[in-house]
Amino acid sequence: MVTKKTIDPTTLFGLQHVISVEQYILVVFGATLGTAIGSFVAAAGIRTTNEKSVISTPSSCDHCGEKLAIRDLVPVISFLASRGQCRYCGARLTWLYAGTEISFAVVGGLVASLADWDVVTIATCLAIILLGICAVSDFRAMLLPLPVMVSIGILGLASQILDQGLDGAVSSLVASVTAIATIGIPGLLYWLIRRTQGFGEGDYWLMGAIGAWMHGIEPIILFYMATVLCLVAAIVEALRQQKSLQYLEPKPIGAFISIVSIIYLTAKLCNLALTKM
Ligand SMILES: [Zn+2]
Repeated sequence: MVTKKTIDPTTLFGLQHVISVEQYILVVFGATLGTAIGSFVAAAGIRTTNEKSVISTPSSCDHCGEKLAIRDLVPVISFLASRGQCRYCGARLTWLYAGTEISFAVVGGLVASLADWDVVTIATCLAIILLGICAVSDFRAMLLPLPVMVSIGILGLASQILDQGLDGAVSSLVASVTAIATIGIPGLLYWLIRRTQGFGEGDYWLMGAIGAWMHGIEPIILFYMATVLCLVAAIVEALRQQKSLQYLEPKPIGAFISIVSIIYLTAKLCNLALTKM
């Protein structure tokens, strides 16, 4: 007789704490707050690409310019209710808002229920928000805002110093250099073979910035995971549009690096054992 191997669902992926009532309340609270933050991140990311002020400009439709009412701005729900179209002109709305809101709801729910709160946790949350802005802005216009990336790097260095003092500073700088070399080597090969830039300047800054959060060879794994994700996205797009891969628009690799970095930092905050090297 074959006995079925049972997996205890309460300990899967180290999520054994997510069962008490308090934890459920925290998940709901975190997800709700995450959705609102995601909404801000999407707006900020899109506005960095068209130089509108993040704070002062009222929200309006990108196509017809109609000022949006409160009912158009409810995260995710407004998007679903209008079936992804502008209520005024019928133009297709970007999926970037709903996508970012849902992603940040997941991050918020996980972090609120699993993270231990201290200064480094707050700095990590800030970095996740800034990486979200990079992802949106790179998806939207292949642009990575430099001040945002520099802030991510400084937060990473400061967090590692707070965590481990001088050792943390060394680890942060070494991983940052490793990260730049990781993208620099394929970039150089590409240039030698094709005589064109394989990556944008922003991609190097982004790798250096996220490297400051990492240890050892983690940047190498991060970069190749982002590359694979980018390639999968390109193949899906090629199949859907029935085009050969080489005729596709260049892909925003920075956006994929940002997404994998968000997953990495979230896992770290939640003490998930996925990132232990
Ligand atoms: Zn419109």
